[in-house]
Amino acid sequence: MSKVKSFAGGTHPPGNKGLSCGAAVVRLPAPEVVTVPLCQHLGAPSKPVVKPGDEVTKGSVIGEQNGFISLPTHSPVNGKVLRIENVPMPHMRSGPAVVIKTESEDGENVYEPIADWKNTEIPLLVSRIKEAGICGMGGASFPTYVKLSPPPGVKIDTLIINGVECEPYLTADHRLMLEKADDLITGMNILAHVLGVSDPCIGIEVNKPDAIELLEKKGARVVRLKVQYPQGAEKQLIDAAVGRQVPAGALPLNVGVVVQNVGTCVAVADAVCKGMPSIRRITTVSGLGVNKPGNFDVCVGTPVSTLIEAAGGYKEDVKRLIGGGPMMGMALFTDGVPVTKGTSGILAMASKEVRDTAEGPCIKCGKCVDVCPLNLLPCTIATASEYEKWEDAEKAGALNCMACGTCSYVCPSGRYLVHYIKRAQNEVRALIRAREA
Ligand code: SF4
Ligand code: SF4
Repeated sequence: MSKVKSFAGGTHPPGNKGLSCGAAVVRLPAPEVVTVPLCQHLGAPSKPVVKPGDEVTKGSVIGEQNGFISLPTHSPVNGKVLRIENVPMPHMRSGPAVVIKTESEDGENVYEPIADWKNTEIPLLVSRIKEAGICGMGGASFPTYVKLSPPPGVKIDTLIINGVECEPYLTADHRLMLEKADDLITGMNILAHVLGVSDPCIGIEVNKPDAIELLEKKGARVVRLKVQYPQGAEKQLIDAAVGRQVPAGALPLNVGVVVQNVGTCVAVADAVCKGMPSIRRITTVSGLGVNKPGNFDVCVGTPVSTLIEAAGGYKEDVKRLIGGGPMMGMALFTDGVPVTKGTSGILAMASKEVRDTAEGPCIKCGKCVDVCPLNLLPCTIATASEYEKWEDAEKAGALNCMACGTCSYVCPSGRYLVHYIKRAQNEVRALIRAREA
């Protein structure tokens, strides 16, 4: 058995995964109306290529790629376009979406499956991954094909598949590893083939022994990781799994590494071997605010309210609704938002799960500094932000913060550190733009 590895810093919030980790994935039918956002990926939203009244088929393109960091968007159903409008989104205030009346979900593959991918030219495989609209399904939603297209001169020698799922409550990746292990391994092997990497590995925290055992039995190389937040953040995962440090401001590819989520691997296998674009995902619905937490396979564009219903509906005491995990997720002000490719979970949190105390003054205890996995000074950046000293925030490295929430979690004064730091990031970016103008 391999050694259990980890990174420096971080914290140990209660996992609360027992609420849903035993619940097998339930496939939900498409709702009567799907609201498919055109900005489910990081980068430029796709450009709509349909109009109200158009008939669309499952997997057809409804939004075309609109730049290098962008992706096409596909219809998850056969149906008719009702309208194109701005809707509230889980990861931003609002964004454009194509609203489609569902007629059916019939239909198999959209593209010709590439069964012999091992003997297929690499550009064709990358092109398939791009046309299928695949982005990182761990939550970051970065277009996958871009990570597979390193600039000239950059050599990738390591592929790490991220099966960590370190956010409390979330169990969608855990279930996916158990229920779609073969597709996951196929997707990993396709990605390794594309990158020219001979020995990819899957990083998994040791709180998922069944997934580790299954994947090892099927021949995958698993790196066992300590249960420690944020073990699944790219830089921390690379440090823990292969002992390489990604410098501030640099990317994993600068140290020869590509990281892809386990859900992304399954999406790649679906696109290449089954000819299906990225139109569904597995997501967790959990928290003490729902009656029956579980894991669901849903098409993108499904309203969060449908997922909540599938999880037995709300209990009376729901204090907060979150898209994603409790550490890095975003509070949702309505359950009318649609599921996107990046929706790793929906949490309905009861009062006792939510820290709701007033913010106190910084007592200079240094705890936030001890835990920051990027060795930043969260209290210094936050104070600079509070007093609108943007240059000080910049000098303290505000832009390097990945908003993991570890500092806020440990702060005994309940300081809204991430909130202050995110504000500083916006202001520092504006400052830099003004300087360069
Ligand atoms: S943990 Fe909170 S109280 Fe302690 S130094 Fe950091 S910001 Fe201040
Ligand atoms: S400063 Fe940023 S990276 Fe460091 S612990 Fe806080 S949120 Fe995480």
